[in-house]
Amino acid sequence: MKTEARWKKALRYLGRALILSCPVCGKSPIFPPLHCTRTLRDWFTPLDGCPRCGYPYEREPGYFLVSVWIINYGAGSVLGIMIYVIREFFYHPPIGQLILSVIVPIFFFNLLFARHSKALFIALDHYYDPHEKDPGEDGGNLPKPEKPKGGPTAPDKPLPKPKPEPILH
Ligand SMILES: [Zn+2]
Repeated sequence: MKTEARWKKALRYLGRALILSCPVCGKSPIFPPLHCTRTLRDWFTPLDGCPRCGYPYEREPGYFLVSVWIINYGAGSVLGIMIYVIREFFYHPPIGQLILSVIVPIFFFNLLFARHSKALFIALDHYYDPHEKDPGEDGGNLPKPEKPKGGPTAPDKPLPKPKPEPILH
């Protein structure tokens, strides 16, 4: 199998995450379409897996904690600090106005960026820990086979010696 440059693969996964598409096939969406989104829960919750290739989006309970706490809040914090510094440095508004001008954009940014932060985390996870085995079987999207316990350095169990056949007279 031809090996692809790592940076090309990273860029491809990043591009797919930015358009909220499956990191494996790049065709199916990670989230339900907007016309099916009725509540905030629908907005934040990804589909169970890719309807095209079967790639599971949420591998385990709590899978998206990093995406919410680090990617989404981290990006919101950076945005808030930038707004604060620019407003304070150039305009010197009253403190109440300054706080509002920082908090309101962050609130909407985090709401809108939540889907992208989850998609970015899925892509990041798929890049560093591909959830697939060799292509050919089910599109290469099944979990990797587990290594046998004891590791590859464990000595193999010796085969029992064959019993000598009884001599018939
Ligand atoms: Zn897919």
